[in-house]
Amino acid sequence: MNNIAQRLQQVRERITQTATKWQRNPADIQLLAVSKTHPATAIKSAATQGQRCFGENYLQDALPKIESLKNAGYDLEWHFIGAMQSNKTRPIATHFDWVETLSSLKHAQRLHQQRPPHLAPLNVCLQVNISHEPQKSGINPAELETLASAVSQLPRLRLRGLMALPASADTLEQQRLPFARLFHLFTELKSQGFALDTLSMGMSADLEAAIAEGATQVRIGTAIFGPRIKK
Ligand SMILES: *Cc1c(COP(=O)(O)O)cnc(C)c1O
Repeated sequence: MNNIAQRLQQVRERITQTATKWQRNPADIQLLAVSKTHPATAIKSAATQGQRCFGENYLQDALPKIESLKNAGYDLEWHFIGAMQSNKTRPIATHFDWVETLSSLKHAQRLHQQRPPHLAPLNVCLQVNISHEPQKSGINPAELETLASAVSQLPRLRLRGLMALPASADTLEQQRLPFARLFHLFTELKSQGFALDTLSMGMSADLEAAIAEGATQVRIGTAIFGPRIKK
């Protein structure tokens, strides 16, 4: 086994052990492999081990990889998890299966209009600024229901859930607080009638805390692919 295969296996074990500890079914927690800055060969190593869902942040970096792996026989699913910009919505709507960093109606409308008709509706998660950090993207929790309602009206989008990238914290207890708040918002929206199934939270350093608080998807980069490659 190569390094990526070994590390992928270790991450799967962390997920399984943590899920079991909290009496959750490990199958209810999806692993999104975050391959930003890593080459298509690294993605292939993970795909060979059965990894199907990959997350990318930078469009220029992602598009050639998506293209080169298109006909490689892996049936990959691509999630856009980077900062949204209006002038990039068309290629995102065309080449990705999911957008997890949606936080404005303007971007939602563009993605809806630009999603090619021959493709299934684009799956979206609303990114929530759960730690109230002024410099971070994501919608304010107070505005979440309004945006969720508006996005639900757009037939070329399919609202799947919530995503957050909280401020980093050192202890498990501190890490759990923002994840618990996001879980609460997720539960509230579901009780208001939104059919959500995805709560995307937790990365290499805090996946245990996220699973403890109900994550249905963890987004893992470094623990699978190693440190990010600098240009
Ligand atoms: C880079 C990134 C990740 C993965 O982070 P790691 O700490 O490398 O696991 C997850 N989510 C988002 C939004 C990211 O940008």
